[in-house]
Amino acid sequence: MPETIRTQLVVVGAGPGGYSAAFRAADLGLEVTLVEREQRLGGVCLNVGCIPSKALLHIAKVIDEAAHTPGVDFGKPKIDLDGVRGHKDKVVKRLTDGLAALARQRKVRVLTGSASFKGPNSLRVAGSDGTTELQFEHAIVATGSTPARIPGLPDDPRVMDSTGALALEDVPGKLLVIGGGYIGLEMATVYRALGSAVSVVEFMDGLLPGADADLVKPLAKRLAGQFAEIRLKTKVTGVVAHKDGIEVSFEGPDGAANARHDRVLVAVGRRPNGQNLGLEALGVRVTERGFIEVDAERRTAVKNIFAIGDVAGEPMLAHKAAHEGKVAAEVIAGHKAAFAPLAIPAVVFTDPEIAWAGLTENQARKDGTAYEKATFPWAANGRSLTLGRDEGLTKILFEPKSRRVLGVGIVGPGAGDLIAEGVLAIEMGADAQDLALTIHPHPTLSETIGMAAEVFDGSVTDIIAPKRR
Ligand code: NAD
Repeated sequence: MPETIRTQLVVVGAGPGGYSAAFRAADLGLEVTLVEREQRLGGVCLNVGCIPSKALLHIAKVIDEAAHTPGVDFGKPKIDLDGVRGHKDKVVKRLTDGLAALARQRKVRVLTGSASFKGPNSLRVAGSDGTTELQFEHAIVATGSTPARIPGLPDDPRVMDSTGALALEDVPGKLLVIGGGYIGLEMATVYRALGSAVSVVEFMDGLLPGADADLVKPLAKRLAGQFAEIRLKTKVTGVVAHKDGIEVSFEGPDGAANARHDRVLVAVGRRPNGQNLGLEALGVRVTERGFIEVDAERRTAVKNIFAIGDVAGEPMLAHKAAHEGKVAAEVIAGHKAAFAPLAIPAVVFTDPEIAWAGLTENQARKDGTAYEKATFPWAANGRSLTLGRDEGLTKILFEPKSRRVLGVGIVGPGAGDLIAEGVLAIEMGADAQDLALTIHPHPTLSETIGMAAEVFDGSVTDIIAPKRR
């Protein structure tokens, strides 16, 4: 007979969404069980996603900056791969150990194993040391997503997904990245800095096809000078593993081609993990893609079961998951809460970084939303020039009548940190004057936000004034 545990709230999945939900619920007085199939808490983001990739991107940035420091020659860098991996693993361990301690302090019971729902108030956890039955009052499903696969790929360790790429087994002479999205470009940046000749193949007619073209342009230009090859509008038609390399055939605007690489990274999107949990049988609606349908409280069609994070819909981003997790926990604890953000920021941690929040021009064109735009080029920002960089751009989209900020887009070093001001501006209903009259510290990159608003306002003095409004 499996052991039976009763719990007020079970949270399935301990990524940023799941652990935030579990911890918030415990702080609100609920008795919580957190089920995670991996040994360590933190999910993909902490263990094999956001955090390890940023640890490696930091090293890539140091290598690049050292190579381009004016007047200083550091020589050719010597890469100690164990040391690079060690930095990444240490950061991950510190964070995941911290989560385990936080769970203990909050008396959140952690069960290791795979959960499947057996009824609207019960689920089974299959762990390495047996099966546990859980009787729950409420459940939050936070099972995340998995890398999408291309059919027909050979089963070969040299054909990697993001987890394989982060393991950094070696620095391949030639690396092919399939998919010019977030993951593809971030990992391509790491491997390029470590010494690989990197090629990227992308299905659509530009890199990061979701992002506005003017933000992608400076990045695409820089990468064109760094990568061996960028093939756009190109389909991969075959991948064959040979002893001395992986042969990939393409079909693109110039016809068919093929090339041999030492490793291939497949980064063609992620699939939500909503299926195979036993939820459909209970009446929870799961889409064909695997997303669980939820309302603003993050409640599914079964009223005591909630879903948050990647599995509950786009965008599949950790910070969105954490906020949804808190909403679900608060609702379950009897509070009034809803997930209704005006803006969810997105950041691509390449060099330059690209970040946006709120309305994008792509979206506005699609929806027919009226907007006016102001841009400030970083070539006119002193701090940017001191960094040896001038390609950045800050743009703000305004509502024409109220002059309120609808969206902010930034490309340039540090854009990911700068976008936070844009998110706050949107959430607070700020207008052009609010931003233009806010005194930004000089000399910083943050001034580009104030000055983009001044451009809209007609009060800018750092560039030739556009027409007065
Ligand atoms: P993505 O959707 O960003 O990019 C996938 C790319 O692959 C797209 O440009 C797509 O057009 C292309 N593609 C699809 N099929 C292809 C094919 N057969 N051949 C060539 N190209 C193909 O997905 P991703 O980079 O895998 O990332 C997955 C998710 O993870 C993202 O949606 C994002 O939410 C999240 N993520 C976020 C960050 C971040 O916030 N910095 C970083 C990494 C991942």
